Amino acid sequence: MSFESLGLLPELLRAISDQGYTEPTPIQLKAIPPVLAKHDMMACAQTGTGKTAGFALPILQMLAPMQSASPSPARHPIRALILTPTRELAAQVEENVAAYSKYLTLRSTVVFGGVDINPQIKALRAGVEVLVATPGRLLDHVQQKTVNLTQVQILVLDEADRMLDMGFMPDIKRILALLPAERQSLLFSATFSDEIKRLANQMLRNPVSIEVARRNAPTDLVTHRMYEVDADRKGLLLAHLIKSRDMQQVLVFVRTKRDANRLMRELVRDGVPATAIHSDRTQGERMQALEDFKNGTMKVMVATDIAARGLDIEQLPFVINFELPYAAEDYIHRIGRTGRAGSPGEAISLVCSDEKRMLDDIERELKRKLERLPMPELAGARPRAPRHHEERSASEHRAPRGNLHAVPAAKPVHAAKPAHAASAGGFDFSKPYEPKPSSLTNGGAAPASTTARAPMRRQTAALLGGHAKKS
Ligand code: AMP
Repeated sequence: MSFESLGLLPELLRAISDQGYTEPTPIQLKAIPPVLAKHDMMACAQTGTGKTAGFALPILQMLAPMQSASPSPARHPIRALILTPTRELAAQVEENVAAYSKYLTLRSTVVFGGVDINPQIKALRAGVEVLVATPGRLLDHVQQKTVNLTQVQILVLDEADRMLDMGFMPDIKRILALLPAERQSLLFSATFSDEIKRLANQMLRNPVSIEVARRNAPTDLVTHRMYEVDADRKGLLLAHLIKSRDMQQVLVFVRTKRDANRLMRELVRDGVPATAIHSDRTQGERMQALEDFKNGTMKVMVATDIAARGLDIEQLPFVINFELPYAAEDYIHRIGRTGRAGSPGEAISLVCSDEKRMLDDIERELKRKLERLPMPELAGARPRAPRHHEERSASEHRAPRGNLHAVPAAKPVHAAKPAHAASAGGFDFSKPYEPKPSSLTNGGAAPASTTARAPMRRQTAALLGGHAKKS
């Protein structure tokens, strides 16, 4: 089955060919026809399956008849809104949209927090048909009346499960209430919890359901291996593996920001070019780290789970779990960074005695054993490896699962509901937005509660890219 046979426009086919895609991925084959037929859709697909093109291509095709070469902003209203949980994912999605629409006169832009809002305002004022946004910054634009969502025809919620995990539900509800009731809605999620199903029931009308992988199924292209290693020899083993196997691009996972920084410094000291990505770094630093890693300047990127979520790094050959994640599903997300778009990948876990229970959970979730590799000869022992009792920052807290009593109890992010969440639950998604008296007082479109988020929620969202830092 080819892209041609999906009936895509010549302008899109040319752009796809420029990207080097020769045939559609399974999610694209399943998603493109129903989206073109204007159905709502609930899609279970992980990042790495080609899902972005699965929704972006048909959206661009549907908007193409309305494209305009006119410079007038009025001729370029926002017709498609794509919401993503993180800045990085937002930037990646918009990059894809821009690449696929390069032979059309449709415009796109991206808005996310943590960066100057003024260039975003300028881009919105000029007019764009496709807007990619994180929820917090979008609401800031709503509040400042620098965005008009009244002509949105298509809404995409990308990585909806992660948006809910990150506490964005009230923001999503506010945004949904600002959109025309007559619209097409697409919901993409790697997992389908009851909460996601409830959201889908509320926002989708007679949706087509598609799925390309078993829930939480790790891609079969990934080899899962592990070393049993003392915690204080992990650093040494990591440097040994990178050097002895001449690894050119490795994403290394740790649990905390502090560990990420420390490990990065150690690797650099060992002569391995390394960078780190986590939510304490500025947006500029995160983008730079990703760019350096993608273009090969840095062989290693050390990441926390949240910062790495949704990262698209083409053909990443290695993922190393320097520490196992507390939640087995995070292992699935981590290894989802490799074995992408048909390339094989290898996931290597460094497991110390403290982590046996996490390993059991992961093997249960995977329904297979990780292949045990014999420890190589290591010269000397470096003292350092992240300790599991170290304090985790608020943004990286995740509830430990099951019987992991050794792990300090952490407040789960999703437990930090804002005080007004209950009232937000009463939204009727089928109704078009009607300004409430409270929002009229601050200019009409903006929900007054945007500025009144509960402290925990604000902190989490701000760190993770959803909420705007005023600049
Ligand atoms: P996504 O799941 O949308 O993040 O896509 C994962 C990666 O697959 C991205 O690097 C895309 O550029 C790439 N990709 C998407 N569609 C195709 C295709 N049909 N053939 C080859 N690569 C693709």
